Amino acid sequence: MNTKIDLHTHSTASDGTLTPDALVARAAAAAVAVLALTDHDTVEGLDQAAAAARAQGVAFVPGVEVSVTWSERTIHVVGLCIDPADAALRTALAGILEYRDWRAVEIGRRLADKGIAGAYEGAKGLSNGRLIGRTHFARFLVTQGHAPDERAVFKHFLVNGKPGHVPGAWATLEQAVTWIRAAGGQAVIAHPARYKLTRTKLLKLLGEFKELGGVGLEVVCGSHSRDDALHFARHAREQRLLASAGSDFHGPQLALSSQPWIDLGRLPDLPEGCTPIWQDWPVVRAIVAAGGRAVVATG
Ligand code: AMP
Ligand code: MN
Ligand code: MN
Ligand code: MN
Repeated sequence: MNTKIDLHTHSTASDGTLTPDALVARAAAAAVAVLALTDHDTVEGLDQAAAAARAQGVAFVPGVEVSVTWSERTIHVVGLCIDPADAALRTALAGILEYRDWRAVEIGRRLADKGIAGAYEGAKGLSNGRLIGRTHFARFLVTQGHAPDERAVFKHFLVNGKPGHVPGAWATLEQAVTWIRAAGGQAVIAHPARYKLTRTKLLKLLGEFKELGGVGLEVVCGSHSRDDALHFARHAREQRLLASAGSDFHGPQLALSSQPWIDLGRLPDLPEGCTPIWQDWPVVRAIVAAGGRAVVATG
């Protein structure tokens, strides 16, 4: 039995290009049995996704991907099985969105200084108007011919040392893990290979994360090579962290020239010896008991 599980995806509630409805429809068409929506710093799309998942027979896991500044770097912490209605989480995320708004204006100002006018308005116009990410700037700059694809915009304009870079001032690791846990969720370090941490730094991060109550490591994900997955599977085993798996899907039209991604329903299996984070989830047990069909959809 091979149940397709995808625990890291984005919608138009953050920087994805599919609405929560369309995301769920695509997941259903790809025979994904268990799907988490994990938009950056918002729970806005979760109700729509949950309703669509109920209608389509996909088991839905409410999630979020919280932006964190740790040791002068940006780290992403995914929260799974959160209560989307949790008031403290919503208030905390609203605070992050305020910083995002300020940062978006600042990115626009810095790009304008370099002769790129109207980037803030352009990025905002490509967003839902409530959450503006660097991806929206990247898409706008591509439409304006400043670079051939999003990845090139990041490389030349948006990363450290480039004209539109604004140093992150996100949540602390402690805040992110605490908010997720208080909302009933499980905290997972997202795409660990992306941070390019030394072994010492990685062990420090994982140690602090566990100390705070974090439980998971994203072993399989869209931006991981098979070697990355094997490498982080070993860390998960050694650190007694649960293994998660998610595509980090942002939209169907994002070609390889954009950010690394993998389509819904196309994730490789977890490497041997990992303990899946979903092992004890009732929704997954029900599916396994039903022979792999997603007959139960949680709200
Ligand atoms: P933000 O949270 O607004 O700073 O934007 C982070 C998002 O930008 C990530 O979730 C990716 O969707 C996207 N991103 C980051 N780095 C790159 C890159 N090198 N190429 C394309 N997209 C990227
Ligand atoms: Mn993103
Ligand atoms: Mn991320
Ligand atoms: Mn993501």
